[in-house]
Amino acid sequence: MCMAIEKECRCGKESARLHHQHSILPFETVANLYCPSCSGDVKFNENTMLKDNGWIIEYDMAVASLYGKKMGLQGEQLTPERIFDEGYCAWQGFTPNDLHRANEEKRELAQLAKTDMKRYIQVMREWSINRHRKLQGEGWRKARETVEA
Ligand SMILES: [Zn+2]
Repeated sequence: MCMAIEKECRCGKESARLHHQHSILPFETVANLYCPSCSGDVKFNENTMLKDNGWIIEYDMAVASLYGKKMGLQGEQLTPERIFDEGYCAWQGFTPNDLHRANEEKRELAQLAKTDMKRYIQVMREWSINRHRKLQGEGWRKARETVEA
């Protein structure tokens, strides 16, 4: 079971969808969220924060540590990077609003499925690879892994 939450950034201009793998971490784990407009004034603390392409997630590490055993991240292993990279509290998709964007793009492509299913499957495949490459090029942390050709 997984949980996704929508959270507004500090300045209220943007929001992000965060996914909590296996629903281990509660909503309160995210102490603050900063979009590229409001992250500039933040003094970055690597012990509690994770930076991704101008965004900053600030975790409440005291809350996270309560669930350390369940995540298998204890002591020095419990870092913002591990929490994010292992999906315990990270963007749903590749970016803060990836799912929403992807769904819009997919909806357009879905028209093709009605007329040419074979072509649709081909196009979807290319779309997903190209999209991953593009996000990787933009520097998103979750898109860093190798794109499968
Ligand atoms: Zn903001």
